[in-house]
Order: sequence, then C-alpha cells, then structure tokens
Amino acid sequence: MTRTALAAVVREYGADPQLEPVRLPELRLDEIVVRIAGVGICHTDLTAAAGGVPVPLPVVLGHEGAGTVVEAGAAVSRLAVGDRVVLGFDSCRRCRNCSRGRPAYCARFAPLNYGGCRPDGTTVLRDGSGDPLHGNWFGQSSFASLVVATERNAVLLPRDVPVELAGPLGCGLQTGAGAVLRVLRPEPGSSLAVFGLGAVGMAAVMAARIAGCTTVVGVDPDGGRRDLARTLGATETLTPAGHPDVGRRIRELTGGGVDFAVEAVGSEDVIRQALSSLTAPGTCATLGLRAGRNPVTVDQTHLLGGRTLTGVIEGDADPHVFLPDLVRLWQQGSFPVEKLIRTFPFERFDEALAAVRAGDAVKAVLTFDRQE
Ligand SMILES: [Zn+2]
Ligand SMILES: [Zn+2]
Repeated sequence: MTRTALAAVVREYGADPQLEPVRLPELRLDEIVVRIAGVGICHTDLTAAAGGVPVPLPVVLGHEGAGTVVEAGAAVSRLAVGDRVVLGFDSCRRCRNCSRGRPAYCARFAPLNYGGCRPDGTTVLRDGSGDPLHGNWFGQSSFASLVVATERNAVLLPRDVPVELAGPLGCGLQTGAGAVLRVLRPEPGSSLAVFGLGAVGMAAVMAARIAGCTTVVGVDPDGGRRDLARTLGATETLTPAGHPDVGRRIRELTGGGVDFAVEAVGSEDVIRQALSSLTAPGTCATLGLRAGRNPVTVDQTHLLGGRTLTGVIEGDADPHVFLPDLVRLWQQGSFPVEKLIRTFPFERFDEALAAVRAGDAVKAVLTFDRQE
C-alpha cells in the first residue's frame, strides 16, 4: 500500500526544513512503517541541515523517533502491527563490530546512517510531484508522521512508557548514558565532570548518579541548565564564565581532579578544559560532533601522567540491549527523560527550531496527534 505522510524536507543546505506531503513506497520484506508519536531534534540534524554532514539533498532528517508499527513486511519476525517502538541508529548487524555488540562502530555506519537511501541505493520517499527524496537518515528520517525503518534499528517499548517522549533515547540520551555506563564505567565512589549540559550531558549526569559516582560536576554557562543538572544528580555545578580556568577550578573543588570527564560540546577549548580537570589516572570521553575535521592540540606530557582521551559515538551501545536498560531505569525513576523535554506540535517545527537554537529547550520533541 502506498501511504502519504507529512514530512520536514531540507532542499538546500542552510535553509530550514519545510513541511511537505510525501509518499512512502511499497514496503520491502524486511521493512516496517512506523507512525511517529514524537521525534527529538538532535544537534546532528542541525549540523546536517547546515551542510556539515555529507547527506544528499533533498532529504528528510530526524533520528530520534518513536511511535507505533502500522505495517510490517513479510520477513519481519520480532515486531508486529500495533507494537510501540523507539528507533535507534542503523547498523548492518553482521560485520565484526556488529557481531561483538558494538554496532556504533559498524563497518557500514556511514552509508547506512548518512547515505540517504536503502542499502541497495533506492530511496524510500517521494515528494508531492513524485520526485525521489532522500530518507533512511539514521535508518528512519523521522521528521515525518510516517517513516520506513527496519527491525535492525527498531526496539520494542513497553506499553507503560509515554511513547511520544521516548524518541531521544535512540540518540542523545543513549550517547550520554552509554559514554558513562558502557565506556567509562566508573566504580561507585568515583568522581566525574560533565562539560555541556544539553540532553547528552544531562544523560551523562543521570548515568553518573546511577553508577554511584559521589562527585558529579556539571559545567554549563546556562543557569537554568545547571539547576536542572543538580536535580538530576550533579553535586556541584560551575559556569565557565565565572572561572577562566575551569580545569583548575575542578581540580581545586575535587582535591586533585576528577576520575572521569564527559565532554559534550566538541570544541577544542572545552576538550582541553575537560582534559585538564582530570586526576591521574583519568579518562575523558569526547562526544560532541562538529562539522568536518576538528583538530585538537593536546599536551602529551599531560597524557603521560596516565590520562586518556577517547571519542565515543552513540554511547558505544547496541540499542537492542541498551535501550531496554534505559527504559527500565526510566520506569524506576532514576532516568527521568521527561524532565529534559519540551514538546512542540510537529506543525510548529519553526518554533521548536528557534527554541533549540536559542538554548530554550534542553531537548525539543515534535509530537503528532494521531496515534492508533
Ligand atoms: Zn555492522
Ligand atoms: Zn543524534
């Protein structure tokens, strides 16, 4: 069955997405159609819309979608019509890294998530005139009321979580929480600093508390975000504006530096501050994605003191394993996703974008009325 949907289409780098009717094709055997209940706006969507990720145009972005399966291809075995799902990034599920539970480093990560088409090169969307539109962005292109995904990146949600708020688990929240719980793995009693209190940084703060860190320092220029971080588990917060040498201030606060740092900004300045906040040994994970190359100068002498700088994509997590873990933590009240979210009706996409750009929403989620 050919279906029509409303989608936000980017036709030119640097231009805001415009809402347009689009058409979905006949499903392939391994595909599903998901009616989106809510989709988060992630910075990677904005970086791509600005031309910072080589995704072909015209394209439908959006990669933090969650909703209800309304159609399933004949080869789909784990999901059925009526199931609620959160969509994660796509991965081949077959290469060496996928086979050992590390699909964020899938050999086919770039073509599957940024390629704009199915693995066989066809596009899943057409515009109102019947011309092809690029989709499959992170296996979903979920700035749309209906999307084509596959079992590879759709994870079943229990009925008692609000599906319209679950989408950000699939990227931003998985990224921050996974960096802490899967990569840094702090022992109870450790200290950890988080630089940049957006959704990724807030997820890292919540994860640090879950891991039993007793000192959690949150750094952000925005007072409202620092307040929120304190309610989520930060034991100290700092504004970089008040402290020209943030690394030194954290070393003073913690009696010699933190065991771990999560850097969720991606700028050279902040990466250097995060490294200088570490004790020895200590590890800094950098997560912020910037357009193109992003060279950083580090002091080798500082690293020789037993310090590590690592980079992490998507929390180095397998969504099929990690997202159910995060959902359980959410249900238990220790990972309160809803505290980060401000919702906007999908028709008010412009307003949501403006709020994200102005820093007025930690995580903006676009919602759709119709759900079956
Ligand atoms: Zn793979
Ligand atoms: Zn993202």
